[in-house]
Amino acid sequence: MSNITWFITGGSSGYGLALARYALGRGYNVVATARSIAKLTALTAIAPDRVLAQKLDVTVTADADNAVKAAVARFGRIDVLINNAGIYPRQNFLEMTEQQWDEMQDINLKSMFHSMKAVLPHMVAQKSGKIVNISSVTFHLGMATLSHYVASKGGVIGLTRSLAREMGPYDIHINCITPGAIKTAAEASVVTDEQAAQFLASQSLQRRIMPIDVARVCLFLSCELSDGMTGQVLNVDGGWVMH
Ligand code: NDP
Repeated sequence: MSNITWFITGGSSGYGLALARYALGRGYNVVATARSIAKLTALTAIAPDRVLAQKLDVTVTADADNAVKAAVARFGRIDVLINNAGIYPRQNFLEMTEQQWDEMQDINLKSMFHSMKAVLPHMVAQKSGKIVNISSVTFHLGMATLSHYVASKGGVIGLTRSLAREMGPYDIHINCITPGAIKTAAEASVVTDEQAAQFLASQSLQRRIMPIDVARVCLFLSCELSDGMTGQVLNVDGGWVMH
């Protein structure tokens, strides 16, 4: 078994869950986090000796600190951080409240401030680490009724690029994935069948892109195959945006 440890925010559903399963399948240790540990029980059952389920509300600084401490106590180190937790409720701008705007920024962007503040000192001490931040292809496209979301995901790209420059001397690699329309239960609850068909028509590949497609690119950015890369943004969108 490998001694590599992945730390995943939002590990209870969608990509986060797919990623956790994928990492476990490759023999890695996984620290899976979510607001409720109860939602992580099925994951723990897959490999109790290699899964640490931790409560982590990404808006709470102390939760990030506690989860990282518990991870280091259990596995000795954190090699990979996947900043995945996020929300994407739609709201038109004219009716958007300040609270809705702030909640989006807190969960999708400030969350990464908390998690990286907690994890980076360990990676700096190790002089190694890989961080993958989940943004969104909507940053490249812009999207009506998602201005608060797209702004948060643009912030993720800026944070990624700036920290990649700052952390390179410690051999810490920080990259970003911009997924397209990925089939998860959460996506299905906000995207109509008609919209999903429109998104598919915009892609070059004529199939829905799945959480496992994102998981594979996360693996690439989390292992030695990407040792020459940092500060990059990779679209995993079936060939929707091409730049
Ligand atoms: P899901 O809703 O399935 O998963 C979101 C995860 O985030 C859950 O595990 C949830 O955990 C967690 N989460 C939400 N709020 C918090 C919080 N305050 N603290 C801790 N965890 C939280 O979404 P997806 O898998 O579809 O999306 C995952 C990521 O991918 C998001 O960042 C999203 O923006 C991004 N994305 C998704 C796309 C898609 O088409 N699906 C496209 C582009 C980007 P819990 O509620 O159990 O605490």
